[in-house]
Amino acid sequence: MANKKVETCYACDEIASSKEHVPPKCLFPTELGVNYRKGLITVPSCDLHNGKKSDDDEFLLASLAGIIGCNNVGLLHKFTKVNRAIRRSGGRLLDKALKEQNVKLYDLPNGGKFDVTWGKPDLKRLHECFSLIGRGLYKHKYERAFNGTVNCEVLYVPTNNRGWKGYREFVVSEMANELSNIKVEGQNPDVFQWVLGPEDFSGASCGRLIFYGNLVVYLAFIPQLFDAENHKSLFNIAQSITKSVYIQKDGQRYRIN
Ligand SMILES: [Zn+2]
Repeated sequence: MANKKVETCYACDEIASSKEHVPPKCLFPTELGVNYRKGLITVPSCDLHNGKKSDDDEFLLASLAGIIGCNNVGLLHKFTKVNRAIRRSGGRLLDKALKEQNVKLYDLPNGGKFDVTWGKPDLKRLHECFSLIGRGLYKHKYERAFNGTVNCEVLYVPTNNRGWKGYREFVVSEMANELSNIKVEGQNPDVFQWVLGPEDFSGASCGRLIFYGNLVVYLAFIPQLFDAENHKSLFNIAQSITKSVYIQKDGQRYRIN
């Protein structure tokens, strides 16, 4: 009798009860006359880590499609499917994606109106969503769940902290370097592209997600056993020093406080 392989969840390694699309299927438009759903990735998932059941999928869609910087595919997707979803939710979906909202109405030459909304994105929830996407891609690539923390840097959301800005530029340039020779994947590049770098001796690695052509998120996979303190302390120490602190690397200088 053959042993049937037990599928386990991409995020927690518990026995899986369903399949989850990574990233969520709703990000890939169907209404634009082009097939943007080629070769979508699915991974086994438990109920808890199934985005559809926690409405993370719609949150992510409202947070990405149509925001400033995304390409035409993201923009068109926003003005069709996303706005329908926002209307259906009576605006609650937009409230979840953006805090402290401002809406400005513009008049169009044909007498119509055009609205632009801005506000503070729910970064904590966005981080959770992107980390889970990272875990899903990891499971897809290595056929096991990642055991550790997945941190993310959402590059399209600017930071006001000058020290963090410099440190982030440094960390991101290091990660970009590490990924520069790795094949970028994703069969619908106008919607989503991804790359995961190789693991180093400690099991740490990094990755990059790009949504709608321009919305870039970097991921750092930090294994459970890794001493993350050394990794962070440089930035933390710099914050307690009154003089300017710089990291110098490859002819670049990054101010980190
Ligand atoms: Zn799970």
